[in-house]
Amino acid sequence: MLKISAEEKPKFRRRLLAWFAKHKRDLPWRRDRDPYRVWLSEIMLQQTRVSAVIPYYERFLEAFPDVQALACAKSDQVLANWAGLGYYIRARNLQRAAKEIVSSHAGQFPRQYEAALGLPGIGRYTASAVLSIAYDAPHAVLDGNVARVLARLCALRGDLRTPALWRKLDATSQDLLAQNAPGDWNQAMMELGATVCTPNSPRCGDCPVERWCRARKLGLAEELPFVRKKRATVNVTLAAAVLLDPLGRTLLVRPADGDGALFSRMWQFPAVEARGTDSRAAIGAHLREKFSVDINAILTPLSSARHTVTFRKIRLEPYLARVPRLPRFAGGRLIVLTEIRSLPISNATRKIADVAMEHMTR
Ligand code: SF4
Repeated sequence: MLKISAEEKPKFRRRLLAWFAKHKRDLPWRRDRDPYRVWLSEIMLQQTRVSAVIPYYERFLEAFPDVQALACAKSDQVLANWAGLGYYIRARNLQRAAKEIVSSHAGQFPRQYEAALGLPGIGRYTASAVLSIAYDAPHAVLDGNVARVLARLCALRGDLRTPALWRKLDATSQDLLAQNAPGDWNQAMMELGATVCTPNSPRCGDCPVERWCRARKLGLAEELPFVRKKRATVNVTLAAAVLLDPLGRTLLVRPADGDGALFSRMWQFPAVEARGTDSRAAIGAHLREKFSVDINAILTPLSSARHTVTFRKIRLEPYLARVPRLPRFAGGRLIVLTEIRSLPISNATRKIADVAMEHMTR
């Protein structure tokens, strides 16, 4: 794997740590090493860009400044502060873990690796990141950025996500770890991958560890690592209904697990996928079957909107229907349309609410 001699490794580490001290980005979660803040940032950064996370991170900390505040909060409140960031299971796990930390760990993020792994939503990567950054515990991280850097340093071919290669990368990452500064080391490796050794066009001329890089020597930096094929995009048309009563109230529903997975389990307008049929007909039939509402004739089309969830490209086709009274049933919720943002709703639901409100002001 890594062809760096035992004498060279300390130099390699010093170079990377010095580069990190000088070039690291000033990010809000780097301003202190409070375990709660480090943990929150690591969870928010999963699958999400740094620039998108910053305002959410700051707002979330204002609402829930410490683990006790998060543990005691209402789950709707937590989700409302997460709304728009996506992958809402992260927020639910975060609060479940906060409750466990308060009830079983005296309100302190555990210092032991196995105990951290036992918390909801915490895998090997997050446990290593939090323990190393907050407590300087000697656990090396391995995420996509670090794996790419290591694969290039070692000129490693093949799909990095295969279990055998991932195990090798994990061992190499642990072997390289600077034991005297594990938190800075992990952040330095991730920063190198995020800002210099990027997926496309790595900036090898600015790289602090260029002299030890085999891919650079072999002229393979841009070709490595092997990129696995992305799952093909699926186009989906989703028909939604904004039912509106004379008091300006609308009906929201919250699908159970496995039902309405496109929007997670957030509050949303009644909606159905229009498969090979006209969206008006699809939502009309859905309203009749699920809510006993027969309003096909008075569905007014609103502006369509686009939304993307993982590999699905969704075309939202919303309809407005004014009704004398909204259907009431267990699991439904009536709310004044203009107050909808006080609930945990997904970006897709927000887009539909916005076009409905815009239509009403015309
Ligand atoms: Fe990445 Fe280039 Fe540095 Fe090698 S020399 S680690 S390919 S940026």
